[in-house]
Amino acid sequence: MVQRKAKQKTKQKGGAEWSHNHDHRLCIVDALDRAADLCAGRGARLTSIRRRVLELIWSSHRPIGAYSLLEVLKQERANAAPPTIYRALEFLLEQGLIHRIESQNAYIGCPNPDPDQQHKGMFLICTDCGNAVELEETKIDRLLRNSASNQGFVIESRTVEAAGLCPECQVS
Ligand SMILES: [Zn+2]
Ligand SMILES: [Zn+2]
Ligand SMILES: [Zn+2]
Repeated sequence: MVQRKAKQKTKQKGGAEWSHNHDHRLCIVDALDRAADLCAGRGARLTSIRRRVLELIWSSHRPIGAYSLLEVLKQERANAAPPTIYRALEFLLEQGLIHRIESQNAYIGCPNPDPDQQHKGMFLICTDCGNAVELEETKIDRLLRNSASNQGFVIESRTVEAAGLCPECQVS
């Protein structure tokens, strides 16, 4: 067992999450801890396969597609098939533990799954290193909803994904 660091919600200051050489093991440990807590609180079953898929998605900050997940899983479990992956992804999406990056048809771990209320992420995606960082969406979301409601429009789904260069890739 990995000795768990004292639970500290380290709010990184602007841009720190882009760092290419942060200790990513901590991101993974944190994500799996949060997932276990959240599922336990809801009485949802985080089975070993669901947990493993979540861990694979968290293996980096780059969105990963279902096919790549399947490739890895097949080497570990001979009976892994597309439905295995899709059921696990569906569960993780339902629990708000991951988000779908529409523009890439790929998945990314949510760093702030909310136990009470689901959110759909908004993302900055680096076209060079491929990392994607989720934005705090409350303000932008409220703005979008208010503007839409001024038009008498009710938003049912929305995708906000911005492509560009992260701080690290701008210097290299
Ligand atoms: Zn990380
Ligand atoms: Zn999120
Ligand atoms: Zn980058």
